[in-house]
Amino acid sequence: MFMRFFYRQLSAMAGPRPVVLSGPSGAGKSTLLKKLMTEFDNVFGFSVSHTTRNPRPGEEDGKDYHYVTREKMQAGIDNGDFIESAEFSGNLYGTSKAAVQAVQAQNLICILDIDMQGVKNIKTTDLNPIYISIQPPSMTILEKRLRDRKTESEESLQKRLRAAMVDMELSKEPGVFDTIIVNDKLEEAYEQLKHALLEEINMVKKTKVSS
Ligand code: ADP
Ligand code: 5GP
Repeated sequence: MFMRFFYRQLSAMAGPRPVVLSGPSGAGKSTLLKKLMTEFDNVFGFSVSHTTRNPRPGEEDGKDYHYVTREKMQAGIDNGDFIESAEFSGNLYGTSKAAVQAVQAQNLICILDIDMQGVKNIKTTDLNPIYISIQPPSMTILEKRLRDRKTESEESLQKRLRAAMVDMELSKEPGVFDTIIVNDKLEEAYEQLKHALLEEINMVKKTKVSS
């Protein structure tokens, strides 16, 4: 009895396991993530990354990203403020310690949307997340989705497609991801994502009810 109580206390203190969502730009990570956050109110919290890229129409500073200059971001990296950072498509991106702590302090499942370099770097930390890769059905479909999104210049689009080819190869390496989801039909991909996270979702719901 005492031991059960002790372990419950211990796991509550550690909080739920974070989730890393990765995969090529345009594969559908943000779309799936928004659905998840909408359906499961007060279960997930987004780790707001820093980036040196410009905001897209509709994106909000402090919500989608912290938009910063390269100088400011580099100073933060040099100061040890980031768990990981990477150069992607000509810009710096990074997860600050504060971003993850802010979510974990609320006892929510922290979601990190990061690229493949980020995945490799997180694996060297003690964050111990669940690693999920969102992949497009094909390069042709990925290109169409990125073009239809109308957020990228031709140059940025080409850089993202090149990075996607590398990402799609690396994600096939055994042991990198716990789950790989091919986002063909959105609803089907979403069901698979929920299934992969079911245990953690139920755990958070249970602690919310009992607290
Ligand atoms: P990422 O966050 O991985 O860069 P997005 O979520 O922005 O990708 O998705 C890229 C584009 O593809 C968006 O315009 C989105 O509406 C669209 N999209 C996402 N999933 C699907 C899908 N299953 N079928 C068709 N279009 C999709
Ligand atoms: P976008 O410019 O489309 O928002 O993001 C481009 C890429 O950067 C995506 O693959 C996204 O997952 C990745 N990304 C976003 N934030 C971070 C971060 O903090 N660290 C790393 N390593 N990659 C990130």
